[in-house]
Amino acid sequence: MYQPKSMKAEEFINHEEILDTLAYADAHKDDKPLLRAILDKAREYKGLSHREASVLLACEDQEIIEEAYALAAEIKKRFYGNRIVMFAPLYLSNYCVNGCVYCPYHRQNGHIPRRKLTQEEIRQEVIALQDMGHKRLAIEAGEDPVNNPIEYILESIKTIYSIKHKNGAIRRVNVNIAATTVENYRKLKEAGIGTYILFQETYHKESYERLHPTGPKHNYAYHTEAMDRAMEGGIDDVGLGVLFGLELYRYEFAGLLMHAEHLEAVHGVGPHTISVPRVKRADDIDPSTFDNGISDDVFAKLCALIRISVPYTGMIISTRESQKVREQVIKLGVSQISGASRTSVGGYTEEVRPTDTEQFDVSDQRTLDEVVRWLMENGHIPSFCTACYREGRTGDRFMSLCKSGQIQNCCHPNALITLKEFLEDYATPETKKVGEEMIERELQNIPKERVREVTRDYIGKIEQGERDFRF
Ligand code: SAM
Repeated sequence: MYQPKSMKAEEFINHEEILDTLAYADAHKDDKPLLRAILDKAREYKGLSHREASVLLACEDQEIIEEAYALAAEIKKRFYGNRIVMFAPLYLSNYCVNGCVYCPYHRQNGHIPRRKLTQEEIRQEVIALQDMGHKRLAIEAGEDPVNNPIEYILESIKTIYSIKHKNGAIRRVNVNIAATTVENYRKLKEAGIGTYILFQETYHKESYERLHPTGPKHNYAYHTEAMDRAMEGGIDDVGLGVLFGLELYRYEFAGLLMHAEHLEAVHGVGPHTISVPRVKRADDIDPSTFDNGISDDVFAKLCALIRISVPYTGMIISTRESQKVREQVIKLGVSQISGASRTSVGGYTEEVRPTDTEQFDVSDQRTLDEVVRWLMENGHIPSFCTACYREGRTGDRFMSLCKSGQIQNCCHPNALITLKEFLEDYATPETKKVGEEMIERELQNIPKERVREVTRDYIGKIEQGERDFRF
């Protein structure tokens, strides 16, 4: 039976409830009064249940879909403004004992070179990332208790935070490593991580077990209940995700929202972020072998509906997606993107993008400077802000800030301050020009006069060489 408060995976991600939901959605997908009522509810900015959202996802009526897109764009604007938070992944190790059939790091892949960065190599990678202008990283590693034990991850986090090269600093390290124990989550929390990210890959238990035939990741319940253990270990910002293409997207969408409902019901706070990766070509992986690939249109619809269903959850998109797709979904609700990513172990210190240990093909291969300029030319403010977590605004404290609508007096100025740092330290003259104009314009959009004045003062001080201001 479906029980959002249960701590058992198969009860809070309940297969029968998902099947019922999909049948209900099919039966009502043309029910205009119901669809309108659901949209009206979404307009209250309190989100939608997995059932309501699933009806919208099944609906093919263009008028309703357009309304949903317009609402997604409105919610995006209201709660996130025009800011886009920037980050980069850092691959520490591709040693892995799992058998995930979609991932080139699977254990059976005998020809991919295995690499694990030493602390000195991490230093070099981080310096290269700082020299681009990054302030926020997501560290990635395969699961391997011998090669990548928790001590290695903790030591690496320490190394990353300790590197101060020129004006550079990594101020937030998010962690994407395999499901682990409460004790290890507690250690990650103590190491000062930002969000703990773990993709579910698929919520469909049978498919999950087939797609993860060997290794510890085979255990569906252990994987699905990981966020509860993370929260028990004190991490209150957790990031969910589905790897789209593996299973039917409508099934995954319902499962994802049920997972969010579960976290809210049990811990009083929903997921901090949701990621929406799609399966990509990689070393010995051909995405067409998975039957459930989704078109760009369906992908956009998913992003828009996630936005209106969980308005206070950030949405992340990576360089798996092309510039064109990124442009579309940023408008529909994505709030964080990676830029200039290299998805290979040790990739940032190489002159030419290495592909031998790449986890997946990167579609958007532009430099960070190019991505930043492109965002600004499209009216978005690239933000390198990491203030919330450093000010202790995590979990429900971040959510209340988001719900209060005060982020315009907080996140907006922080975005401008950190953009200014980027322009001073890393931008090309062309990008700097576009950025300076944007900052001047956007200063006017800070509602409180006092905050506006202080922001202007900080920006002046950054020009004089000072760094790291925040609200
Ligand atoms: N090893 C960790 C785990 O088991 O969760 C996490 C790190 S893994 C490097 C990050 C994510 O990359 C995976 O969770 C998976 O969703 C995604 N991924 C793996 N293979 C992929 C592919 N071929 N295309 C796109 N994304 C892929």
